[in-house]
Amino acid sequence: MKDRNHSSLSITTMSSLEDLIPIVNKLQDLVFNTIGTDTIDLPQVVVVGSQSCGKSSVLENIVGKDFLPRGTGIVTRRPLILQLINLPSEASSSPDETSSDSVLQTGRRPEEWAEFLHVPGRKFYDFSEVRREIENDTVRIAGNNKGINKQPINLKIFSPHVLNLTLVDLPGLTKIPIGDQPTDIERQTRSLILEYINKPNSIILAVSPANVDLVNSESLKLARQVDPQGRRTIGVLTKLDLMDHGTNAIDILSGRVYPLKLGFIGVVNRSQQDIQINKSLPDALKAEQEFFRTHPAYRNISYRCGTQFLAKSLNNTLMAHIREKLPDIKARLNTLMGQTQQELASYGEPQFAGSENRGILVLQLMTRFATNFIASIDGTSSDISLKELCGGARIYYIYNDVFGTSLNAINPTANLSVLDIRTAIRNSTGPRPSLFVPELAFDLLVKPQIRLLDPPSQRCVELVYEELMKICHNCGGPELSRYPKLQSKIIEVVSDLLRERLGPTSKYVESLIAIQRAYINTKHPNFLGAAAAMSSILSSRQEKEKKAREAQRKLERMEVKKAVFGANGVSDSVPESGGKPSPSLPSSVPGEGESRHHHHHHHARSGSMSMSVSLTEASTNAAAGPSASASKDSFLNYFFSKDQHAQQSAMLSQVNGIKHNSHSSDNLGISNVVSSSGAVTPSDPHRSSHHGRHSDASDDASYLAKEFEQFGIPSSQNEEASLSEREQLESELIRRLISSYFGIVRETIQDQVPKAVMHLLVNFCKETIQNRLVSELYRESLFDELLKEDAALAQERIKCEKMLRTYTEAARIINEVV
Ligand code: GDP
Ligand code: MG
Repeated sequence: MKDRNHSSLSITTMSSLEDLIPIVNKLQDLVFNTIGTDTIDLPQVVVVGSQSCGKSSVLENIVGKDFLPRGTGIVTRRPLILQLINLPSEASSSPDETSSDSVLQTGRRPEEWAEFLHVPGRKFYDFSEVRREIENDTVRIAGNNKGINKQPINLKIFSPHVLNLTLVDLPGLTKIPIGDQPTDIERQTRSLILEYINKPNSIILAVSPANVDLVNSESLKLARQVDPQGRRTIGVLTKLDLMDHGTNAIDILSGRVYPLKLGFIGVVNRSQQDIQINKSLPDALKAEQEFFRTHPAYRNISYRCGTQFLAKSLNNTLMAHIREKLPDIKARLNTLMGQTQQELASYGEPQFAGSENRGILVLQLMTRFATNFIASIDGTSSDISLKELCGGARIYYIYNDVFGTSLNAINPTANLSVLDIRTAIRNSTGPRPSLFVPELAFDLLVKPQIRLLDPPSQRCVELVYEELMKICHNCGGPELSRYPKLQSKIIEVVSDLLRERLGPTSKYVESLIAIQRAYINTKHPNFLGAAAAMSSILSSRQEKEKKAREAQRKLERMEVKKAVFGANGVSDSVPESGGKPSPSLPSSVPGEGESRHHHHHHHARSGSMSMSVSLTEASTNAAAGPSASASKDSFLNYFFSKDQHAQQSAMLSQVNGIKHNSHSSDNLGISNVVSSSGAVTPSDPHRSSHHGRHSDASDDASYLAKEFEQFGIPSSQNEEASLSEREQLESELIRRLISSYFGIVRETIQDQVPKAVMHLLVNFCKETIQNRLVSELYRESLFDELLKEDAALAQERIKCEKMLRTYTEAARIINEVV
């Protein structure tokens, strides 16, 4: 007899399990392969009972196959772990064809086979060979003579007609050792059985032969140990056909003798004689049915007797177990479905087929891009980054921080040497020596200085342009990334638009600065007049002189003390009589110590502000009196004496740290005077090179600091020789005026450039982006090319759709189970 025919038997014999097989296996497949985490984790069915009570027979009936060694005496001497593995039947693997078609086409039945763990790589198609191999391997490990062994035999049966389930056949319990059996055989077997039935996930088939008093049932005793409530124990009563005539097991089967939740089921397996005559499984089952149907005692309960009902009970138990697990699986499935739906939505609709729709899609995507672009600039975008400034905020940052700081860092006279100024003054006065600071010299000097505003302004334009480029690359969104061709085209068009605007914008900004150079408005209300500049110079000089004088006095007092307490005479060390430092400038300089703004108003109102305030007048005002020459000495002493060097450099470093505002620009002017007049010599070889560098990078504060330091080292002889006091004053005055005027222009530029950039670049692009995109890309002829979907993404969507279908199917199956 060929084992290949068994598949048809199992369908008839195990109909209830067969019903379960497709559902549970599908569900398990879903749980295994799609949910991927928890498995339904079907219970192990463990068969327990005394020797020869019919355990193997029961198991065989459940599986629906003849493959286990059976017989009188001890046959099962090692645990058999039988893993049933469901193979998708050919019919279910190709749902378009009916199973009969596939049988016709392939010309053979779906394959079933067995594999042993200890015989790797070999498939047993003949199930009588499986039986033989079990016997052989039992002998190999457990010996030839009755001995049992704990080491299990692992057998897998692959079939489209089995449930993914593990069944365990165990050696039977015996009391008295025979053959090779050790004296404690009973204890050993017991512990072996307990090992398997202890697992809460196992269903215990407690087999008891009906021809032995149930009171002596070893299997029930064992089962009670691990399942005292009888929740997972099914009582199986075998050999009902072998009971003494006149007796029956009705009381047991009705649950009146021994309480088990899952009840007792009576079966009639093949007798030893049946086995010898090779009675087939279907025949045996038919005979069993007949037995119960006609038996006077069991006739009325025949529906709940027999192997089929046992299989059904097992089925129910498995179902109950699955149901218990179902809520978890359902919840997980719902989550997965939601996630997959979301993912699918992110891939968008599949490609439009009609040309009309393609046009709409292109338009939609372009509009969305334009909207996102504008939203990023306006800061209304929904996915604003929290990690860094972006879009509009970044543009404001460029205006206020980057641009503002770089403008303020410009030192408007840093690149002007004393010599430059003197030369300008000399040139503009012409051959005739003038008593006035010529307006022409200021004009001449201040105009190129305004150019210093150019690089930061251009940089501001570039930065905003770069930011817009960045925005343009980031506002496609997931929908657009589906169409890489369209995306890159849109970016190209917008980039072109931005690039087009860069030229006009930077030209305009350039001209804003050129405009400032075109006319120097010395009547500007905020401009520091020459007179005010002069008086502030004088007052600051006075301040310094006062300090110098005090220092001198201190020194002299110390000398006096030295003289008094020292060895020498007294007379020549009286303070203030030395004639060295004396108050050179009257303290009545107009506006001395008052704020600059005060002067502005004063001059603006009186209209007396002029570039040609008489210097002599100013100095007579300021430095009148007999002590003029003395004052010069002291002034120069102050600036150029080595003692003051420390003080001077301290002042410089302070200047470097000063925040740039309209007030401090004055201080800057002073510090420049100090630094250059204190240090610069016409013959200094470094000078010219630094000068050149300055006009390029005038805003490099740290560089300037170094420069100051370098030139802070006094070289008084040269300086004194090259510059007269008047020239000193003049150049200082010019510096102050330049700083003041530069400050005004700087303010204007700081105000105007962002407005220009906003108008000519940012807003222009915002307003024209949509039209530009439409006019460049909305062309029937381009649609095909533009809407070529990203292949990888299309693949992802298909995968996602498939997954969603699977989950939906799983949900459907689960609802069926319930
Ligand atoms: P195991 O040792 O518990 O696995 O029992 P087996 O399945 O090997 O059966 C032992 C012997 O009892 C075999 O010869 C079977 O044919 C016989 N047998 C098992 N069940 C029945 C039954 O219900 N009726 C009859 N007449 N014989 C049975
Ligand atoms: Mg057995």
